[in-house]
This record gives sequence, C-alpha cells and structure tokens, in this order.
Amino acid sequence: MSRVKLVVANWKMYLSIHEASLLTHRLHKSIKTHRNVEVVLAPNYLSLQPLSQEIDRRRFRLAAQDGYFVDEGAFTGEVSLSQMRDLVHYAIIGHSERRRFFQESFDETRDKVAAAVRNGIVPILCLGETKEERSQKETKQVLHDQIVTALSNITSEDAENIVLAYEPVWAIGANEPASPDTIKEAVDWIRYQVRELYGSKTEESIRVLYGGSDEPEYVSGIMAIDGVDGLLVGRASLNYERFSDIVTGVYLAALGETKE
Ligand code: PEP
Repeated sequence: MSRVKLVVANWKMYLSIHEASLLTHRLHKSIKTHRNVEVVLAPNYLSLQPLSQEIDRRRFRLAAQDGYFVDEGAFTGEVSLSQMRDLVHYAIIGHSERRRFFQESFDETRDKVAAAVRNGIVPILCLGETKEERSQKETKQVLHDQIVTALSNITSEDAENIVLAYEPVWAIGANEPASPDTIKEAVDWIRYQVRELYGSKTEESIRVLYGGSDEPEYVSGIMAIDGVDGLLVGRASLNYERFSDIVTGVYLAALGETKE
C-alpha cells in the first residue's frame, strides 16, 4: 500500500521567532512541492502563530513539539493541545527528551495522544528504547509497552491517521543513525503491535517514521527499508540545505529512485 511520505523538522528549543521565520523563508525557496511528500515544521510554541501566517500551506504543515492534555484550566506555564487546534496539523508526543528531562510518564503520553485526537490534531507518537534497555535486550518489551499504553484510548478508526516514530534514544544526537537492520527489526515489531491491537487495515494505513541522526547521505538507505514512511529530523532540520536535501531524498525514494 502506498502511503504519503512524511518529513518532520523538529526544531526543538532552537531559533528565535525571527530566525524561525528566516529559515522558513529559505525553505520556501529551496523545497519544491512534491505530491507524495508532506513536509512538517515543528517550531517552538512562540513561532507557531507567526509561521502559520507565513507558510504556504500547499508546501508545509505545522506541528507542535508537545502540548498539555487538559483543554483549559489553572495549569500555569502549559499550552494545551486544544489551544493549538487551529494552528497545527500535527503534534509530536512523547519525545524522549520530554520523557527524560521532564519525567513525562507513559500515562501522560497516553493522555496527550488522546487530547490531540480529540482536538483534531494528528499525534506523531515517539517510541524508542534507551541504550541501557537495548543492552539489556528489552527493546521489544519497551516498544510494546509504549505502544499499548499510548494508544489505549484510541479507536482503530483514529489509529489509522496516527503517525508513529521509531526514535531509538541512543541514536538521537549521535554520529550516525541506527543501522538499517536495527531499524527494520524495530519497525516490523511496531507494525506487528499495531496489527495485534487494531488489525491489518489499520497497520497498512498507519505511517511509521524513523528519527535519530538523519542526514542527507543516509536517506536513501533508510527510506529503502520496507515499512518506513519518512523521517523525524532534529539537528539537520535547522540547516535549510541539509533539510532540503533530506526532503529531496525522501521524494526520490517515493518515486522509487535513489539520489546519485
Ligand atoms: C530528534 O530529537 O527527534 C532527532 C531525531 O534528533 P537528531 O536528528 O538531532 O538526532
């Protein structure tokens, strides 16, 4: 089944409003519209509003990097997914940096996924094991637990639109991505879990991304892995040339070609 490819730029806590605007301007110039590739920009909260007015929506969509699960209330400092419903198409949920630095629990991730869906936002649910979990051979168990908990309030109809991102924690901010064999094994397992939960129709519709040290030179190898529908890009997305090359690589993969 052919699924629309997806490339997500996670700008994390980088770029002022002005810098985000400048980068977006450069991306408009360097990235063409590709019919089978969706390109998503995830700036910090402050830049969402200005960028929503600046982007060409035929070319880019916006994502939040997180979002609180209660729609409104006395939660000083939080921004709810409900408050972002008209600004963003997607929301990154359960990123390992949220889990690690802000102690986000499995239950909070589950509630954020549900809040996104309730508010018409597509969750990009991050999954992945730490280095220690990998060395303890716990990868499959960790992925299973993350998926089953996070999707526990999601119907099969809603699950078809969700995006899953395999992001092994040890490959984020590293020198190179996980190997194709490692990615394949994890993505197959993730897809198997989705099939077990919802059946094969949902599994065939759901998009699974890979994230972790993506750079242009790795794109064709990663996109050739069966079951991988795109990339969640951190560092390389802050550079318009590297990010544009990544998008082109994904486009070429979508065409069944490889970049020379
Ligand atoms: C990320 O944090 O989601 C990520 C993939 O980062 P990087 O590309 O920098 O490894």
